[in-house]
Amino acid sequence: MSKEALENFPDLSKHHSFMKQHMTKEIYAAYYGQKTNNGVTLDHCIQTGIDDPTLDVGMVAGDAESYTKFKDVFFPVVKSYHNGYDPSKDTHPLPDVLDPDAIPDTPLDDKYIISSRMRIGRSIGDFAFAPSCTRRQRREVERIATEALKGLTGEIKGEYHPISGMTPEEEEKLISDHYLFAKPASDFMRNAGMGRDWPDSRGIYYNEGKTFLVWVNEEDHLRIVSMQKGADFKAVFTRFCQGVNQMRKQLKAAGHNFQSSPSLGYLCTCPTNLGTSLRCSVHIKLTKLCEDPRFKDIVKKLRLDKRGTGGEYRASAGPDIFDLSNLDRLGKTESELVQLVYNAVKLLIEMEKRLEAGKSIDDLVPK
Ligand code: ADP
Ligand code: MG
Repeated sequence: MSKEALENFPDLSKHHSFMKQHMTKEIYAAYYGQKTNNGVTLDHCIQTGIDDPTLDVGMVAGDAESYTKFKDVFFPVVKSYHNGYDPSKDTHPLPDVLDPDAIPDTPLDDKYIISSRMRIGRSIGDFAFAPSCTRRQRREVERIATEALKGLTGEIKGEYHPISGMTPEEEEKLISDHYLFAKPASDFMRNAGMGRDWPDSRGIYYNEGKTFLVWVNEEDHLRIVSMQKGADFKAVFTRFCQGVNQMRKQLKAAGHNFQSSPSLGYLCTCPTNLGTSLRCSVHIKLTKLCEDPRFKDIVKKLRLDKRGTGGEYRASAGPDIFDLSNLDRLGKTESELVQLVYNAVKLLIEMEKRLEAGKSIDDLVPK
């Protein structure tokens, strides 16, 4: 082990992340000085985890190659986060086109569900990801993305709006209406370097009803989003599939692919988003159930993630309103994950109704 590598080993004594768990001096030293083709080092990938000891994962990828170049850390981290999925032997399904027919037609109850949203992240070309890209790469991503977006047709036809061209009021309105991402404010994003050069090359595309949106150069090169008020999963997923399929086709025609690998699926900045990178979420009001001491455990058992409705690291609209979404993204298809959220949310609503009627939910609580 080189003396210089050991002298640079980070102090992780107060950390509890998966990165800390799987990072040894031997691994760190073995990778010391190694770089991907984009110049990304292991230190770049773990910087955000070092700077914030409270993080659960503790690392991001600077580019697609980071995942394999530094795989002795990334693979065990992926396995720990993704419920035992093992990238050294498991494979992720990568369907060529997404098929909305797999989802049930029956909307869930919109007395409880305020809105539904599905998003994926995608990386294009061989450009580095947000934590490590150069200004030129970020601008190229925007150029390629906006060219492709011009080709979208039908319900998802819309326009691209660079953030640099918005007034502060326009920007704030889009953020508070849940459409647009904000300048990175969380320690996680800032420490990873994702706020560099803000707002250069960042922007949003949306259709007239703002039910289909594409974020350019936030945490991932692209975030493709379908959302609407209420609980009609089928409508949201149908538009989502249309958007992803059309975007892929347009990019392909211009000679660009979504970055993917058979074992890790679609490759995004955050290891939590590998696989489908799908987050299917509802904003849901569960006034009675959230008072039940088992609520947190029920949500976890249903493989759901609970956030504030203002977005990750932000507050909720009310004490009984939550953003619930699939915890898993890797090893299953997009349709399977949407179905999983549908079933889980259906069960939560059933529990809420029982509690409203003063009845027990004991038989509904997952073991
Ligand atoms: P992600 O990074 O998965 O896209 P964030 O937690 O960063 O999600 O949230 C991004 C934005 O999307 C926030 O404004 C959030 O309120 C909004 N959002 C997420 N889910 C929903 C939903 N089901 N309905 C309405 N807005 C949503
Ligand atoms: Mg986010």
